[in-house]
Amino acid sequence: MKKVTACWVAGAASLAASFSTTPAFAFCRTTTCDPQTECSYDARGCTTVGLPLTWKSGCVSYSIQRDASPGRGVDYDTIHDIAERAFDRWTNADCRGGSPSLRTSDTGPVSCAEPEYNSNDPNANVIMFRDTSWPYAGANATLALTTITFNYDTGEIFDADIEVNSFKTPLTTSNSVVDFDLESIITHEAGHFLGLSHSHVGSATMFVEYERGDLSFRDLESDDEEGICEAYPPNRDIGGDQCRPRHGFSPDCAPPPDEGCAIANSPTGSTRAWPLAFALALGVGLRLRIGRRQAKRPV
Ligand SMILES: [Zn+2]
Repeated sequence: MKKVTACWVAGAASLAASFSTTPAFAFCRTTTCDPQTECSYDARGCTTVGLPLTWKSGCVSYSIQRDASPGRGVDYDTIHDIAERAFDRWTNADCRGGSPSLRTSDTGPVSCAEPEYNSNDPNANVIMFRDTSWPYAGANATLALTTITFNYDTGEIFDADIEVNSFKTPLTTSNSVVDFDLESIITHEAGHFLGLSHSHVGSATMFVEYERGDLSFRDLESDDEEGICEAYPPNRDIGGDQCRPRHGFSPDCAPPPDEGCAIANSPTGSTRAWPLAFALALGVGLRLRIGRRQAKRPV
């Protein structure tokens, strides 16, 4: 069978390049092109090949890891409320009189804390924390990671999982005492979850860099709204309105792992895993970006 599904780890540090001119809007869509072998990019840093990734249904479900982050003092109710506000910002975006043809629904807590997609069994689109280790490269330079599994031939998103690097990141949820603002991180990753890539507009939530202490990623900018409205226009012909993961919902991980799209494993069968540095990451050095409300450093 021809390749049908693939999964991506979201991130694109290379998009932090500088540009001589700045178009009015600079959002980018994530597409099916393999960043390792197929993608090429335009002046905005957007890939020019492949099909854009979107959820087909008018409703997408997400789930929160039951344990949340004891190490950072973030309990289930706190991340639940943060995730709800983050997704609501995207689904309530202003599409010039309408709103995106997409809503989201929380399935409730799940025990599975792995970014897996089960091609034949029930799933969950999970927001999870990594308190005790960060199992990927760049532990000190990555705040979170979103893995998107999709149909390579159509661009339909099948599954998305967000991992927060609570192992190395001093997360905060306060509006006044701010270190690495969890709500900003989740709002950015929710954009990836819904199929957006990075923007080079410094004030956008989908900007590639995050400055410690910044709360402004919580609020969408017009560039972000243009992106989500293009992906899910108000008049979109939606493929159903089911608020369930593909193949139904399961709060548990489904063995065996070789049936899933384990990003750390070699692809098997029709499932492929493409690591793409889509993380909202903490970098080194200081770079000031015009248009950002606060000075930022690369992330
Ligand atoms: Zn990102």
